[in-house]
Amino acid sequence: MMADQYDVIVVGAGNGGLLAAATAAKLGKKVLVLEQHNLPGGAASSFVRGRFEFETALHELAAYGPKDNPQPVQQIFHWLGIDLEMHEIPGVYRYIITGEDGFDIALPNGREAVIAAIERAVPGSKAAVSTLFDYGEQCLAAIDMLQAGKSMAEIGQAYPVFVKYATRSYQEVMTELGIPKKAQQMLDAYWCYIGIPSDEFEFPYFAEMLVTYVEHGAYAPQKRSHQLTSALVKSIQEHGGKVWFNAEVEQILTKAGRATGVRVGGQEIRAKAVISNALPTTVFGKLLTEEAVPARARQLENARQRGTSGFLVYLGLNKSAEELGIKDYSVFISSTGDSREQFERQKTIADNDFMIMNCLNLAVPNCSPAGTAILYATQLYADGTWDQVQPGDYQAMKEEIARRVINEYEAATGITIHDAIEEIEIAAPATFARYMHTPNGDIYGYYGAPWDQTMGRLTTLGQDAQPLPHLFFCGGGSYMMDGYSSAYFSGYTVAKLACAQIDKEGESND
Ligand SMILES: Cc1cc2nc3c(=O)[nH]c(=O)nc-3n(C[C@H](O)[C@H](O)[C@H](O)COP(=O)(O)OP(=O)(O)OC[C@H]3O[C@@H](n4cnc5c(N)ncnc54)[C@H](O)[C@@H]3O)c2cc1C
Repeated sequence: MMADQYDVIVVGAGNGGLLAAATAAKLGKKVLVLEQHNLPGGAASSFVRGRFEFETALHELAAYGPKDNPQPVQQIFHWLGIDLEMHEIPGVYRYIITGEDGFDIALPNGREAVIAAIERAVPGSKAAVSTLFDYGEQCLAAIDMLQAGKSMAEIGQAYPVFVKYATRSYQEVMTELGIPKKAQQMLDAYWCYIGIPSDEFEFPYFAEMLVTYVEHGAYAPQKRSHQLTSALVKSIQEHGGKVWFNAEVEQILTKAGRATGVRVGGQEIRAKAVISNALPTTVFGKLLTEEAVPARARQLENARQRGTSGFLVYLGLNKSAEELGIKDYSVFISSTGDSREQFERQKTIADNDFMIMNCLNLAVPNCSPAGTAILYATQLYADGTWDQVQPGDYQAMKEEIARRVINEYEAATGITIHDAIEEIEIAAPATFARYMHTPNGDIYGYYGAPWDQTMGRLTTLGQDAQPLPHLFFCGGGSYMMDGYSSAYFSGYTVAKLACAQIDKEGESND
């Protein structure tokens, strides 16, 4: 029998894959990461145009926290020996609804400051919004318990709100609490970070996300996401692991119904466990033979809808944020404040007017040369929306939508940026497909349909984390929703599961 060359092989060096590999290496396992691209990160990267280094993806890193009160992501990073220069993002967000009955509100950091800002804009909302935060805090604590492996009975006893509202929608609960419609809209802009409208978004997850961002703040690295992913690569290597780039995994090998390794560059490499950062869709469709895919895994994959893709306009401006009059790091803009309507419009290119504009300089000082600024605009598009664009029209369409987004920002804020553009780069779904290797350029993994959100995924984790013995999934296509911190948590959890299994099987073979 051929000996295993590695304990763990990780397919893909996105946030989830890198954290999984770093965790396994830290736990003393022999680890190999294989990444098809020539650099780590997947979505989480950076690129240079002229005198600007652009962030590819990150708007806000959640669950990191300040140095004197580290939150779970920072705690894991410290455990891995990683200490980074991070900046707290100023303000929660500014939200501008330009249409009828619209609003323009800037939410500052901190629970009481947010409640007060909403009370000023919508008098009479204070008590109900305070209760929303109380509930969100309880849900955050309950989800921590769930991840720590506590039973639903224990969680229900400690935090009954979590169980009561486990599968109710965020919008439904806000209505039940008596939060006026306009205040609800002011509090549901974060739907776009996960791509689920608030009438379908599970209350506990949305409420804990709000509390996490508002009360624990959000962070950005000094040197873009590439700094985070390079630090993870270094941690893997310092703990004896290997990371190969330009190494596309062609096949996941199986024997007697269990994963045994991979084929890369025509070479077969054996491992005790394989952790995939590539989506199950890719693995089941391309990397495994048809017979090797268990029925439950195939059914689950077929039942799922793929999540959203993105359209990004990266701008290097030859004026500073101060000169341009930019005061907000994140501005969300739409003509409607109804998240369902915003979500439905993502299915068309013509009507989609929900956008986010970020100015990196407001969070990360000196991220661009003196007298310049980095902005990036983001739009989300439902899976497959860009399929209707013919190849011959693609470039013109990208430029048209980029112009539309810039105009929308200028009209909503009164800030002129178009005449200060020194560098511009546009990423459409095809760009993400190329760099992340996801079908249709999906950036958020699978859509969180009501049956397939955090509650459902967490409660079936035991069954679905390892659909085939010795094959695990991490990252956006795994058991958590999308996002940097979710990808990190999934990588950490799944690597621990895989390492524990390797140890257990090692003992029984002794
Ligand atoms: C524009 C944009 C903005 C975002 N903003 C935020 C934000 O502000 N905050 C936040 O928390 N999240 C944000 N996200 C989401 C977040 O980036 C993702 O959820 C997370 O990074 C996904 O990580 P992942 O582990 O799933 O890996 P992915 O990024 O999907 O990477 C998978 C990796 O696997 C590699 N791979 C795939 N197939 C193979 C193969 N066969 N062989 C070898 N390698 C392979 C790919 O090349 C890639 O490197 C954003 C995403 C995008 C795109």
